[in-house]
Amino acid sequence: MSEANECLFCKIIAGEIPSNTVYEDDSTIAFSDIHPKAKVHVLIVPKKHYANVAELAEQDSHELSHMVGIAKSIADKEFHGAYRLIFNTGEDAGQSVFHVHAHVLTGEVMAE
Ligand code: IMP
Repeated sequence: MSEANECLFCKIIAGEIPSNTVYEDDSTIAFSDIHPKAKVHVLIVPKKHYANVAELAEQDSHELSHMVGIAKSIADKEFHGAYRLIFNTGEDAGQSVFHVHAHVLTGEVMAE
């Protein structure tokens, strides 16, 4: 079975599961998290499947820097460039979907 058949985010990328897409280009998609933890909570996801940010950094550092640029654009639009960027990495750190994604939290003043 291919990754696209097993992986939730591969299914979203393939259009098999609906998402509220806020940005898309040839390599990357960004959509709203279904359980938002801030006023604006977007997931930035490479279309190519990597398990986590460490794997992505090793194999495609250009894509990683592209994702950081997309996060900045979202935060510039939503909240004068202020945002948190989180990569949960490993089950014990709270990663539940093993297709790398950056959480962008913005749109409101954050508590510590
Ligand atoms: P992780 O826990 O860092 O792996 O983040 C996975 C995120 O995916 C969680 O914040 C979930 O709320 C989110 N999520 C799970 N299913 C969907 C979905 O179908 N659409 C959008 N976000 C989702």
